[in-house]
Amino acid sequence: MRSKRLHRPLLGALFGALLGTLAALIPAAGWAQGTVLNLYSARHYQTDEALYDNFTKATGIRINRIDADDAGLLARLQSEGAASPADVILLVDAARLWRGEIDGLFQPLRSKVMESAIPAQWRGKDSGQGSQWFGFSTRARMVVYDRQRVMKTDVDTYEKLADPINKGRLCTRSGSHPYNLSLFGAMLEHLGPAKAEGWLAGLVANMARAPKGGDTDQIRAVASGECAVALTNSYYLARLLRSTAPADRAVIERIGFVMPNQQDHGTHMNIAGGAIARHAKNAQAARLFLEYLASPAAQAYFADGNNEWPVVAGVKLSNPALATLGTFKTETLPVSVISMNQVRVQTMHDCAV
Ligand code: FE
Repeated sequence: MRSKRLHRPLLGALFGALLGTLAALIPAAGWAQGTVLNLYSARHYQTDEALYDNFTKATGIRINRIDADDAGLLARLQSEGAASPADVILLVDAARLWRGEIDGLFQPLRSKVMESAIPAQWRGKDSGQGSQWFGFSTRARMVVYDRQRVMKTDVDTYEKLADPINKGRLCTRSGSHPYNLSLFGAMLEHLGPAKAEGWLAGLVANMARAPKGGDTDQIRAVASGECAVALTNSYYLARLLRSTAPADRAVIERIGFVMPNQQDHGTHMNIAGGAIARHAKNAQAARLFLEYLASPAAQAYFADGNNEWPVVAGVKLSNPALATLGTFKTETLPVSVISMNQVRVQTMHDCAV
């Protein structure tokens, strides 16, 4: 994934605010020099690097980052077991956070800071000892379409994507990808099992080609005329909106976008988030790090690094692409409920293809 640079004046202002936040969070006694927090991260953005450096400057806690994708990190945690050096984990999808929880890779956290900053919708289910994972940023699963061939009103709900009017038009990445399974999990809640099954079959019947590639590939395929409608996470579109490359400008000229289901349940949202490792040696430092990421200034910085929306309310953003995407009605289903539907919708999907 590519990273984005923030404006320098904005960086200065944010870092000033971050230092203030940390001063409030850190106990007066401070931390033992030499504490190292082992961070397993599926986020690969240069902007995050500066955020971590600032945490170290303020706390003395150094961050040792191990990078891999979500599935790779979960597999590594599994194989390491109790010997794992991981303290804190950052993943980029709710379904994978849920997978980590049910596989026993995390530990619950009871934190007033997290509970007051992050709405319950964006946290793992509270088992009585706290949640096992916390969302830090949100992304919308949205629709892009070819403005030359498709009416916006043909694609302004997820349900319409399965309508015969869109036959031969639809492109998506694999239906088994967590981004799509999360959407299907949400639709199972909205529609009930029978209608959700019919909806999935309708999607499959409307495909312009067999699923392949990532979300950006689908957007490009709409602009090239290979497809006419596609599903994408919002930050992939936001990157193209911010790009000055002529090829990307041409893509943006050709396509329209929709935040689906504005008249009823709202647009499906997913999260990127974090958790404390089950066998963390530095659980207190891990907690401090997660609380730091939930502070308003860190939230703006963290979310903007990948053109996402903060989970904390009232955080001021300075991102022209997010401004272009505008304000819209979002789904209110807890991501923990959507995640729990993963296995069921995977089976329904496999039957539909
Ligand atoms: Fe992604």
